[in-house]
Amino acid sequence: MPSDASSVLLFFIDGLGIGARGPFNPLDGLEGAEPLAIFADEQATTIHEGIVVPTDARLGVEGRPQSASGQTTILTGINVPQLLGYHKQGFPNAEMLEILRNHSIFLQLTRAGVGPITFANTYTQRFFDERPRWVSATTAAMEAAAVPFRQVADLKAGCAVFHDFTNQLLIERGEDIEPRSAEQAAQVLASLASEHKFTLYEYFITDKIGHKQDVQLARTILQNLARLIRELLVRIDLDRTSVILTSDHGNIEDLSSRNHTLNSVPTIVWGLNRIQIAKQIKTLADITPAILQTLMQKTASHQ
Ligand SMILES: [Zn+2]
Repeated sequence: MPSDASSVLLFFIDGLGIGARGPFNPLDGLEGAEPLAIFADEQATTIHEGIVVPTDARLGVEGRPQSASGQTTILTGINVPQLLGYHKQGFPNAEMLEILRNHSIFLQLTRAGVGPITFANTYTQRFFDERPRWVSATTAAMEAAAVPFRQVADLKAGCAVFHDFTNQLLIERGEDIEPRSAEQAAQVLASLASEHKFTLYEYFITDKIGHKQDVQLARTILQNLARLIRELLVRIDLDRTSVILTSDHGNIEDLSSRNHTLNSVPTIVWGLNRIQIAKQIKTLADITPAILQTLMQKTASHQ
């Protein structure tokens, strides 16, 4: 097991590409959108010395990039669309589940003796009671690697975040729980990242809003998400943690269509080993190898 204290937080945002400016891009002209305000054909600079890497989500396969194949690629380092010959929306099918069960980043880290690892998101009792027929790429990967699920009790104890980090959707479902500010959620994520070698957080509302084509709602959501990231970056120890933000495909950056876009996605790398990590990333298939390499090297270098 590596003796250094390095750790990685992977911050996954569903459906966020790098789009051109214009009336259909909710990030254009949006106040408080840093670090998400990244536009096509513009030199991208960002806060806290982050490095922006436009990342290919099309993966050499015709058609629009989709969630199941993109997420399976991010979580395994295998170019799944290229291997299987198609992009797949929604939840992973049997072929993708097989790949996730054998090659997920959780499993690769565990096999290499790197831990502890965790998924920061909260699962509700309803998930366990009504076990859905289709599960997300992350859920399948966690189960195969025996990573414990964080639950509402963990959230209440300050050791988990809901995918909607404000807790609003949980409260609307009748959970007896307090709303959370971006600052509070950021503190929980920073604590989890300090206690684990690898922490994953997933945010999905961006993709849902992209399909709804609601510009005003998109702007509100993106502003609050950007605030969470800024608050996280001031709370997390960037001297020992690499923060990697990425997405599976474009969507919310172009509300002229309800479809996913063909745009590259923004990978942004902050903190420890950021230059080394950023250099390795060209496509979604490069995320897992870059994380493995940074967590498995003996002496992490400060940059
Ligand atoms: Zn997606």
